[in-house]
Amino acid sequence: MHDETPEAAPLRKDVAVIGEEFERAREWIGAGERITVFTGAGISTDSGIPDFRGPNGLWTKNPAAEKASTLQHYLADPDVRKFAWQNRLHSPAWDAVPNPGHLAIYELERRGQLLAVVTQNIDELHQRAGHEPGKVIEVHGTMRWSRCWTCDDRRPMQETLQRVRAGEDDPHCLVCKFGVLKSDTVSFGQSLLPAVIDAAMHAADECDVLVAAGSTLSVFPAANVVPRAKTHGARVVIVNGEPTAMDRFADALLIGPLGQLLPALIGEPFVQRETPS
Ligand code: ZN
Repeated sequence: MHDETPEAAPLRKDVAVIGEEFERAREWIGAGERITVFTGAGISTDSGIPDFRGPNGLWTKNPAAEKASTLQHYLADPDVRKFAWQNRLHSPAWDAVPNPGHLAIYELERRGQLLAVVTQNIDELHQRAGHEPGKVIEVHGTMRWSRCWTCDDRRPMQETLQRVRAGEDDPHCLVCKFGVLKSDTVSFGQSLLPAVIDAAMHAADECDVLVAAGSTLSVFPAANVVPRAKTHGARVVIVNGEPTAMDRFADALLIGPLGQLLPALIGEPFVQRETPS
């Protein structure tokens, strides 16, 4: 994946939860028969998992963590790997649980309206909210598994972390004996799996409503789900804490806290809606 500097997004005023744009989005979602939800780090911050570039973001506070996320450095430098293993060991994601935003998205599956969740997140909190695993397309992989860079041996991350706890600061593959191990995620400088990105684009092409939630929509190719869905006639609802690089594609743009906006948009059983006076 690679980063792309978003072109200056038009600044739009914050949208009140009970407003015309919100009501339109709520009606589209309510009537949606094949809804695809695209999510980014912003949906997991309420679960205690920091995002990358926000004020309290991982890479804002610790530039070395960004270096560890670059494949070239990770493969070449044992010190980068040792740092990465300590980070994995102490990740807040191990204790994180789904928040009201994740649960609201699961409600769409429970009602039979969900085509797919396409997520940039690697924390598996969507699956933990209840989704069928086949409904969740993880474009950037998962941190809950480790993979050998040489022979592809894949096993639960906790098995490998156990070796780190036992004293191996840079564990190598147990099968081929020399391969570098890494979380089964897509690092900067690493290609996405073609089958996975194809599935994501298919979910964008086939949906009648696309809800993009918690992503700045500036990392490609994943963010292409937005123009793809728009081109194929879907309504595009963008929900985020701040403006995104794709606001110009939004049929409804809702800026605000996801943990409140998503349950309010998707509806019962997550919120008691108040009748606007
Ligand atoms: Zn191996």
